[in-house]
Amino acid sequence: MTTLSLRDDFPGLRTADGKPWHYLDTAATAQKPQAVIGAMARALGEDYATVHRGVYSRSAEMTLRYEAARRRTAEFIGGREDEVVFTRGATEAINLVAQTWGMTQIGEGDRIVLSTLEHHSNIVPWQMVAERTGAQIDVCPLTESGEIDLGALEALLGPRTRLVALGHVSNVLGSVLDAKRAAALVHSVSAKLLLDGCQAAPRLKIDVADIGCDFYVFSAHKLYGPTGIGALWARREILDQMPPYQGGGAMIDRVTFEKTTYAPPPQRFEAGTPAIAEAVALHAAIDYVESIGLARIHATETELVERLRTELGAMNDVTLFGPSDSAGIVSFAIDGVHPHDLGTILDESSVAIRAGHHCAQPLMDHLGVPATARASFGLYSDHSDVDALLEGIARTRRIFG
Ligand code: PMP
Repeated sequence: MTTLSLRDDFPGLRTADGKPWHYLDTAATAQKPQAVIGAMARALGEDYATVHRGVYSRSAEMTLRYEAARRRTAEFIGGREDEVVFTRGATEAINLVAQTWGMTQIGEGDRIVLSTLEHHSNIVPWQMVAERTGAQIDVCPLTESGEIDLGALEALLGPRTRLVALGHVSNVLGSVLDAKRAAALVHSVSAKLLLDGCQAAPRLKIDVADIGCDFYVFSAHKLYGPTGIGALWARREILDQMPPYQGGGAMIDRVTFEKTTYAPPPQRFEAGTPAIAEAVALHAAIDYVESIGLARIHATETELVERLRTELGAMNDVTLFGPSDSAGIVSFAIDGVHPHDLGTILDESSVAIRAGHHCAQPLMDHLGVPATARASFGLYSDHSDVDALLEGIARTRRIFG
C-alpha cells in the first residue's frame, strides 16, 4: 500500500462533526492543505499590499512574491517565467488564446481540431472563434477505450489546420494523451497545439519544452491551490505576436488619448490589479505538491484507480468508462440507478462523488448516456475512501432492490 497518509494536512476532509469525509470529487476542485490556507491568510493579512505600483516596501515585497509565484509556476511546467500569464483559471486562459491568437491567426476556411472528450471550456471558445471567422471545427474521435485517437488525428490534419486543442488528461475518463506525439503530428502541418492541462497538472510531471506544445493551461484550484487563478503558458514568440485581451491598468506602456502602447508579455495580458494572494497561495500549492512528488501522487492515485476499477468491474450491473490506466479518475454507471440518486445516497454516508455530464456533453453523447457517476482521487485519497464508496454502492443497491 503506497497511499500517502496526508489527510491531516487537509481541514476540508472532515465533516462538521469531525468525522472523515470521503471526498471523491478532486477532479472538480481539490481540497486545500493547511500550507496553502496559511499562505493565503498571510498574503491577505500581515503581508498584504498591492503589486507593481507601490513605492513603499510592503508593496515592493509583495511584488517580489507575486513574481516569484510566476517563476515557480513556470519552473513547475518547464517553461520560462516571461512565458507565464496569470489568468482567472483555465477557462479564461483558453478564452484569452481564442480571442487574441485565434482571432488574429485563424481565418475563413481554416480548421480547428478538437476531440470528442473535451471539456466545454475547450470547445465553446473555439466555436465562438469559428463563428466569427468562418473557420471550421473538426472533431478527432476516440479509441474504443476512450483515448484521443492519434491515428485519426493524423488523418484529420491538413494544410488549413491552424490549431489543435486537446485535453492532456480527460476529466471524465482519466485518459492520458500522448502529448509529445500529438505535438509532433500537429507541427508536421505547421499548426499549433494547445493542451488543456487541468487534470494533468495535479497528476503528471509536466515539461512543456519536452512535450513541444505551443500553449498549456491549467487552474490552481485543481492543484490544491485557490480558486480565482490559473495559468497560460505560451511560447514567447507566440505571446509576442498576440494583441492584448483586456485593456486597463498594468498592461500598458504609455497611454495618451491619441495612442496607447502596450507592455510586453506577460504584463500585456494582465490588465487590472491581479489575484495577488491567490498567486502567493498557488506558489505554496506547487511547493506542497512537489514536496510530495508527482511520481508518488501518480502511484497513489493509480493504486486506488486499479482497485476501484477491479472491484466495480467484477459487478455485472456496472459499466466502466475509460481506459484501465486512467489517471486518477473513474467514471461508471450502475444499471437502473441514476448517477444523481447514487450521489445523493452516497452523500448520506459522507461520500462525495460527482454525478452529471461533467461539462462534457459531446462525450456523454458519444458514450450514449446522459450522465455518469465519477469518483476522482487526489494525493490525500486512501483505501478508506474506496471502502466507503463500495459500501455506499452496496447500500444503494439494497435501497433500489
Ligand atoms: N478543462 C478540464 C479538463 C477541466 O476538468 C476543467 C474544470 N472542470 C476545466 C477545463 C475548466 O477549469 P476552470 O473551471 O477552473 O476554468
